[in-house]
Amino acid sequence: MLSERLMKALNDQVNYEFYSAYTYLSMAAYAESEDLNGFANFFRVQAQEELFHAMKFYDYINQMNGRVLLENIEKPIIEFKNPLDLFEHGYEHEQTVTKRIYNLTNIATEEKEHATISLLKWFIDEQVEEENNFNTIIKKLKRAESNPAALYMLDDELATRVFVPPTTNQA
Ligand code: MG
Repeated sequence: MLSERLMKALNDQVNYEFYSAYTYLSMAAYAESEDLNGFANFFRVQAQEELFHAMKFYDYINQMNGRVLLENIEKPIIEFKNPLDLFEHGYEHEQTVTKRIYNLTNIATEEKEHATISLLKWFIDEQVEEENNFNTIIKKLKRAESNPAALYMLDDELATRVFVPPTTNQA
């Protein structure tokens, strides 16, 4: 059985991953309203990934004989200026998530909970990818600034993203 403190921290992260999904769905809704369907697709897939993350923590809490206690999900940001603004918010959000995962890892390390450390290792690697995804698109968007053709090319590129659930042994 995990400590109450670690259980609570993991439970908070379930909530935060749902909040992440909500945040990205809000970004998809904005892109959709601007007829940027590729951008909308990117954020819809991102929201699916976040639901997967939430369920990964959810399943782990159950496996460790804990009980998931769902909380209110905070209202996501809904006002955006442009596509660059979306990705800058997204990047900032992912940096916050990384800090949270590091904090969870610190708690698990302090408590010598190696199984939890192993779970969190997966999330640490995932965060490197998440931050890099956002950062790469920010750079592309900055280069595309004041060039609508480049913006639409990027929109086409992002339309191809699909959600691939990680296989069980990776997950
Ligand atoms: Mg996540």
